[in-house]
Amino acid sequence: MLQVSHLSKSFGDHQVLKDIDFETCHGNVICIIGASGSGKSTLLRCINLLETPTSGQIFFHGKDITSKGSNVNVYRSKVGMVFQSFNLFNNMTVLQNCMAGTTKVLKKDKKTAEEIAMKYLKKVGMGEYINAKPHQLSGGQQQRVAIARALAMEPEMLLFDEPTSALDPQMVGEVLQVMRDLAQEGMTMVIVTHEMAFARDVSSRVVFMADGVVAEENTPAKLFSNPQQESTREFLSRFR
Ligand code: ATP
Ligand code: MG
Repeated sequence: MLQVSHLSKSFGDHQVLKDIDFETCHGNVICIIGASGSGKSTLLRCINLLETPTSGQIFFHGKDITSKGSNVNVYRSKVGMVFQSFNLFNNMTVLQNCMAGTTKVLKKDKKTAEEIAMKYLKKVGMGEYINAKPHQLSGGQQQRVAIARALAMEPEMLLFDEPTSALDPQMVGEVLQVMRDLAQEGMTMVIVTHEMAFARDVSSRVVFMADGVVAEENTPAKLFSNPQQESTREFLSRFR
């Protein structure tokens, strides 16, 4: 479904991603782990075309989305992204946040957009907050709205960049539970996370990044219990 091939990204003369290869199929959950600065966010941002790769390709259903003729807006409507800092529209209500993409990008009429928004807000347990503004909500609630907003586009795949890192500890669980439910339902997801227990439980595969390369990739059972690289062992030892 998604294939990243020989992807490299430099900022000036700093090469942040070096020849990254990985792929994922429908229904898979890939967790990307690695130290700060290893390039995890840059990789996700390249996949969502928020950054332009310096070289290499990204194929979605076999089509190179980095090529000139590809339509970024159509692609982004199929591949949603959830950010660490929620990135909700602060001047809009919860409901308006979840209708913005469906009315503006997918051109749904207001009634349909509202029905879709309500469906996903209820799904994440935020159906009773539709008229609230983001600043009136806790971080965990805001992140659940951000997930509902992404789901309202009915994407084929969701990308998450440390969705729980900005949250107070007591709110991490409610957001991870929403993501566990999505995984259970077969949503295709690529998740950058420091939540190792979550990664172990929900991933189809885990990608460990170090210094801009995929240092190790494996099933969670193998990667966590029997890491092959010294760098993976060293990284994982910080979580014990
Ligand atoms: P963290 O766990 O802290 O979020 P990360 O693995 O997501 O780290 P990235 O944010 O991808 O790491 O950053 C990788 C490297 O790329 C860092 O050295 C960072 O300073 C650099 N970098 C990222 N974005 C830019 C940019 N827009 N311009 C210049 N350098 C950048
Ligand atoms: Mg990051």
